[in-house]
Amino acid sequence: MTPIRINLYPELFPNLNIADLDVVEGAAGPGRRLVVWLQGCLKRCPGCANAAFLTERTNRVLSVENLLGVVEEIKGLSGITLSGGEPVAQAKALVPFLKAVGNRGLTAVCYSGYRLEELRQEDNHPALAEFLGAIDLLIDGQYERDLPRAGSYRSSSNQRLHFLSERISEESCAENAETVFRINGSRAVATGTLPMQIRHQLFEKLRAHGITLTPDS
Ligand code: SF4
Repeated sequence: MTPIRINLYPELFPNLNIADLDVVEGAAGPGRRLVVWLQGCLKRCPGCANAAFLTERTNRVLSVENLLGVVEEIKGLSGITLSGGEPVAQAKALVPFLKAVGNRGLTAVCYSGYRLEELRQEDNHPALAEFLGAIDLLIDGQYERDLPRAGSYRSSSNQRLHFLSERISEESCAENAETVFRINGSRAVATGTLPMQIRHQLFEKLRAHGITLTPDS
């Protein structure tokens, strides 16, 4: 079993090590969301869509205040979504950010390759309980490329939606786009549950036209 770490970059703490940021509507949780992709994941699941975000390396280092500044600049935001990489690996640094997000009336969605049961067993990590206490919707389980996707933000059918608060309802997650693409100059971002085979074909075709895709949540 892959160990659970909650402070993967002690040398950067209390800052966050971020792989990417983008605003997405309807594919990473209900409404308009700031998606925060965290850098680093200790797992290496075959077919992971976010291979560039897995290595433990310093990427874009932001303080919680800097990231809140980004949140405040975005109009009409419903909430934030943590993806990766593995958000839990920076849970300790994320707690104050999540609390501040909740205090602003915004919701928090989190993807994790760990199961909720595993996270709840980690009683030697008190900050993890605080982290989970600040998440409204947890989508748990690593991506399994041999399983079909299952709608409602799940890339493979083993993943589960856990509504950890009443601030996000099951009904609000029923209608969503499977994948959202945004192209900006030579950069494109895909967020959602597009099957990996189709995704790779699309990436190749876009690359041939000089467009680099950033993988999704
Ligand atoms: S599928 Fe999730 S848990 Fe697995 S390597 Fe990718 S980011 Fe990590």
